[in-house]
Amino acid sequence: MKQISVKAPLRYSIEDTECPKPSKGEVLIKMKAAGVCGSDFHLFLGENPMAEFPRIPGHENAGIIEEVGEGVTKVKKGDHVVVDLVVACGTCKQCKSGRRNICRTVKARGAAVDGGWREYFIAAEHEVYVLPEDLPFQDAALIEPFAIGGHCTKRAGVQGSDVVLVLGMGTIGTIILQVCKEKGCTVICADIKDNFLNRAKNFGADFIINTRTEDLNSCIQEYTNGEGADVIFDAAGYPGSLTMLLQKGIPANGARIVPLGFCTSEENITQSMINGRELSIIGTRMSSGQFEPTIEKFHQKAYRLEGIVSDIISFSEIDRVFKNMQNPPEDMAKMVILFGE
Ligand SMILES: [Zn+2]
Ligand SMILES: [Zn+2]
Repeated sequence: MKQISVKAPLRYSIEDTECPKPSKGEVLIKMKAAGVCGSDFHLFLGENPMAEFPRIPGHENAGIIEEVGEGVTKVKKGDHVVVDLVVACGTCKQCKSGRRNICRTVKARGAAVDGGWREYFIAAEHEVYVLPEDLPFQDAALIEPFAIGGHCTKRAGVQGSDVVLVLGMGTIGTIILQVCKEKGCTVICADIKDNFLNRAKNFGADFIINTRTEDLNSCIQEYTNGEGADVIFDAAGYPGSLTMLLQKGIPANGARIVPLGFCTSEENITQSMINGRELSIIGTRMSSGQFEPTIEKFHQKAYRLEGIVSDIISFSEIDRVFKNMQNPPEDMAKMVILFGE
């Protein structure tokens, strides 16, 4: 079988290796589709401080169960599955309270342990979720990012009556928009790219704001009748973005603010900015308990998937994926890798 190994920042190789055998409680997955995410870019470009090399990228993985190890009861050979990106101990306090995503020894597949950019790989049976057979694998590769959308909106307690502001209309911003629209919210989307904002409009955004040409604060005031947004997702996550989103006029009193990035630069936030309006700043990381409900939403066709993926690339042409990561084409939104028979 073939696998992709990132050896060091900007250096990767395509390797031939033995197909692994599942042990007790494990399954062998034949890969069918893998989404390419921002964190794969960070790994390859050397911008992920948690990454160790060599590493096989990929955490948005969909495939078919090829073989099951001893004692496996949850899935069988031939099942179509997606694979959880979270690898957790299952025994710590956080795991026991249903928060595997913040397990004390949590590892993200494709970053801290090897991911799915290979023809076959092993996962524990409790880390795979069965898909409806009629769901195309290229769509199934989007279940993991939609699980992120399910998780962060749950963390923020989003309800249909909320006015939501999403900053950054890349893949995750677009997904949060759809998850919030599905709950019945009014959603305001902000970005600096008109093509991303137009796409957001097509996905149901009630208002769009180009922060390069329009003033975010006065637009929010206008669109919310001076009240501000009830929930704010920072899916742009650049240095200073969180400070900007906390400016007077943007969050409503009592607003919940959810940063989605992992910026390490300091923000300019005071206690008074938070407590003057009793804001909640809510952390979110990966997802927990969201695969099954997300698969059900996909089954119900609750989300619009066309237009999220811009580039479908065969595993045999993997060089193109790395080329695009190094020099992203202007019109590229998201890549999905499809594996052969
Ligand atoms: Zn991802
Ligand atoms: Zn744990």
